[in-house]
Amino acid sequence: MTKTLAVNAGSSSLKWQLYDMPEEKVIAKGIFERIGLPKSDIQNVTFKFGDAKEESSVEVKDHTQAVQILLDDLKAHNVLSSFDEITGIGHRVVAGGELFKESALIDDKVYQQIVDLSSLAPLHNPANAAGIKAFRDLLPNATAVAVFDTAFHTTMPEKAYRYPLPTKYYTDYNVRKYGAHGTSHMYVSQEAAQYFPDKDPKDLKLITAHIGNGASITAVKGGQSVDTSMGFTPLAGVMMGTRAGEMDASVIPYMIAHDPDLKDAQDVIDLMNKQSGLAGISEKSSDMRDILSGREEGDKKSILAFDMYIDRVQKFIGQYLAVLNGADALIFTAGVGENSVPVRKAIVDGLSWFGMALDPQKNVFGATGIISTDDSRVKVIVIPTDEELVIARDVERLKK
Ligand code: ADP
Repeated sequence: MTKTLAVNAGSSSLKWQLYDMPEEKVIAKGIFERIGLPKSDIQNVTFKFGDAKEESSVEVKDHTQAVQILLDDLKAHNVLSSFDEITGIGHRVVAGGELFKESALIDDKVYQQIVDLSSLAPLHNPANAAGIKAFRDLLPNATAVAVFDTAFHTTMPEKAYRYPLPTKYYTDYNVRKYGAHGTSHMYVSQEAAQYFPDKDPKDLKLITAHIGNGASITAVKGGQSVDTSMGFTPLAGVMMGTRAGEMDASVIPYMIAHDPDLKDAQDVIDLMNKQSGLAGISEKSSDMRDILSGREEGDKKSILAFDMYIDRVQKFIGQYLAVLNGADALIFTAGVGENSVPVRKAIVDGLSWFGMALDPQKNVFGATGIISTDDSRVKVIVIPTDEELVIARDVERLKK
């Protein structure tokens, strides 16, 4: 039995989950928030172990200090007797570009490649690299593996990943669709196969809807991503909690010209990433739960935010029904997809022409598995995602 850590390092956060492998049992998990920011009243270290949950507020100056605190905490709670018990560490890395088609063992070269790919994910890859470095410094003997958000989408055909721009922007500047949430789309599409025991997995056509705070929809054929709604960055695709999704790019110079608060394109992109989507339309919240309660109270902006969100998700599902020329199943996953009965109902009710119908007895809170009627032509399935488990499994697989 070995212990493996799955790590997701953001610019000011570090989420971690410790597994006993190969049992795939979660033994402790937690999150550091506000790394590098001054101490505040926000609790910034959460540690869960068995039924115990602890929160504390300490100043954490960088990722290395966070990792040191984490390792000390694991020892203090007797989860570890020695640091050497952690034999593998899997790191989520957002951008793998065209270089990484699957998870990779991290050596000096791979580490540098992840750093060099920062231009494709300027907010994320440097943070992912900081997490990798912190663990390499403190646990140099553990096997480190990078698991890329983009890897699952590297199977997209060129017609799907190219943008219709002059060729040099692809060949010289790497401008293309990369997609994101690949680990989640891969996991749920593999899990979905069990619902089709009589079908050759090579023939299986799935549309996976990862709709959480961030959201993306993917067309999966024979286990491979053939198109996905996020693009060069996660800004593209469906409307999300705070991201606009698909837009006409000409509004960017127009907005800069008319709003004195916007000085350049980056300001507009920031606004489209952080203040748009559900939050921008509802002027209330980025959280679907708040939108749903606003809608029930008759708040017009919440009603519009909900309607626009459903509309965008339905349109992408429609696109992928065309890309796949039909589908065996629509999969719902992530925060909204796993939990929201009214969102699933609104999406599927509008797709009845395609032969999708929900069973109201099955589309209930907490449901997993098939929620469509027995005669629904396209099955609708709820599959909770588990990106950390994929990361831990990849560490096991690649460990020598
Ligand atoms: P992230 O993209 O940050 O990983 P998650 O997949 O955890 O996000 O999804 C978080 C979102 O899920 C929340 O912002 C909230 O909108 C939504 N959510 C969670 N539970 C419910 C629920 N019961 N009903 C509707 N939405 C929910």
